[in-house]
Amino acid sequence: MKFFLKHLLVPALSRPPLSNLGNWLFGQGIPIFMVHRMEVDGQPFSGITPDHLRHCLQYLVNEGFHFVSVEDIIQGIIENKSLPPKAVAFTMDDGFWDQAEIAAPIFIEFNCPLTFFVITGMLDSKLWPWDAKVAHLINTSEKNSIDILLADEHFHLPLTNKQEKHNARNIIRDTIKAMAADSIEDSLELLVQATGISIPESAPKHLKAMDWESARQLEKQGIKFAPHTISHRILSKLDTASAEKEIMDSWQCLQEELASPSPVFCYPTGRFCDYGPREIAILKQAGFLGAVSTLPGNITEETTSKDYLFNLPRFSLPSDYFDFVRHCTWLEQAI
Ligand SMILES: [Zn+2]
Repeated sequence: MKFFLKHLLVPALSRPPLSNLGNWLFGQGIPIFMVHRMEVDGQPFSGITPDHLRHCLQYLVNEGFHFVSVEDIIQGIIENKSLPPKAVAFTMDDGFWDQAEIAAPIFIEFNCPLTFFVITGMLDSKLWPWDAKVAHLINTSEKNSIDILLADEHFHLPLTNKQEKHNARNIIRDTIKAMAADSIEDSLELLVQATGISIPESAPKHLKAMDWESARQLEKQGIKFAPHTISHRILSKLDTASAEKEIMDSWQCLQEELASPSPVFCYPTGRFCDYGPREIAILKQAGFLGAVSTLPGNITEETTSKDYLFNLPRFSLPSDYFDFVRHCTWLEQAI
């Protein structure tokens, strides 16, 4: 959307009386937002600032939106119940420390039932995910550029500033995502050689997970927890037994550690190519009610596909406030 349209028209079009007309004409879907990291001073990762998160949540309160959980949305669809007319859900993926220490208290402050999709092996301190290792190697490399051969392709990646490191991380991650899961370790070894950095046994402080005790305390305050595999490997790249183990063991772990985890699954990296009918069949067999992807979109009443509940779309929480408002209102359907 053009800058002037977004900053001048979104505020006017998203509020009564024009929003009433827009809702009548186009309908209003339910957005599920996903957040990854929070912005923390002095840390090498970037994310959503606490001020921006508060600004977004305050907008929803001021405009009379209703906070629901992903499980509420799924139950509403299954039971054919109508959800509140202005419903919004929030999710956070992976289970890093800043999500529990910085983001969760803000959601609790706003009485918003956030759902955490956690990588259980990370909370068990048994591993840190391969994609976090990629980020660590790129972020801490002191080289101005690296050369690496991955999937028969040669990459020359400059690393002289934050933006170049961001681009390099994305290129390496996307290339590894497209490779077979059993080649991840070899690819990481090549990246170790290229960056001149070794992988420590346990995650560095900024890539640490929240611990189970924190999760239990948050659960008591209304935060929900659901599985996001044990190791964050892409399920479609695994054999059937390994894919099933990733799903079932992470679910079992949550049931052992917490009082009432949500029977909703989150696919690692969540694009259409990252999971398929095999994973959906495993989830249904295990009694899950639904699953979220990372495909953008909101939940609308027109959707009738029976697998829809296992392909639920989500928006990445925009860092631009007006993009956020657009996702929450009839403008998302209309523009
Ligand atoms: Zn994830």
